Amino acid sequence: MSVSDSDVDSQLPPLRRDCALFLDFDGTLAEIAPRPDQVRVDAGLPGLLERLSRALDGAVAVITGRPLQQIDALLAPLRLPGAGLHGAQLRPLTDAAVQLDDHPDIATARRRLNACKPADDHVWIEDKGAVLSLHFRDAPQAAEASRRAVEAAARGLDVDVMAGKSVYEVRPHGVDKGAAIRLLMSTPVFGGRRPVFAGDDVTDEDGFAVVRSLGGLTVKVGRGDTGAQWRCVNPAALGAWLAREAARLESADANYAATG
Ligand SMILES: [Mg+2]
Repeated sequence: MSVSDSDVDSQLPPLRRDCALFLDFDGTLAEIAPRPDQVRVDAGLPGLLERLSRALDGAVAVITGRPLQQIDALLAPLRLPGAGLHGAQLRPLTDAAVQLDDHPDIATARRRLNACKPADDHVWIEDKGAVLSLHFRDAPQAAEASRRAVEAAARGLDVDVMAGKSVYEVRPHGVDKGAAIRLLMSTPVFGGRRPVFAGDDVTDEDGFAVVRSLGGLTVKVGRGDTGAQWRCVNPAALGAWLAREAARLESADANYAATG
């Protein structure tokens, strides 16, 4: 962790034509909602991402804890490459989808978690198949009981427990956003480019570490300690930067066409 809240840097750098852009979704491209199905997407977001994708020869991907099908529905009709469920789903091209089979230890953790989850109506399990999320956004008093429940569910299994914003997640061991970005960087669309990753949550730190190790550029959205090099205050500020860079890349294209 190298950046504290007092080091906020609002001067985000320009995007180069040879970059690969990896973007988290909730809290990064859209404000977090009380429940994942209540998130609101800015009407201009799909168009902006499409322009960036065109300017970067398709090298724009969403790296999310959600299933990719939810991202497709939120950005419709746009469909981007990406990683869902923190990398348990990978889609290196827009027309492909690869999902790991349901891990037997996740099935065990699911059974245990359903049996031991806190008896609070505001604590709920989001079953994403390869990943289990225990949400307690509306029950902050249940945070500690929720942590104990996921730890009990995961005990002795080949799974990892991650803490996010008002959520604990149980995933197959070794699945994280850093591994997902590394895998995408080995595919034709993204390979050889300079990775850029923006994210807002603890689960994005694995991605920041990998992108920094690859010489890329990392942006933390919002508050909290981070290993990212840059920071912006909220999804609207990130969107403004992306819009500025899309326009700049497009005008660079126009200049090139005019002079070349
Ligand atoms: Mg997020």
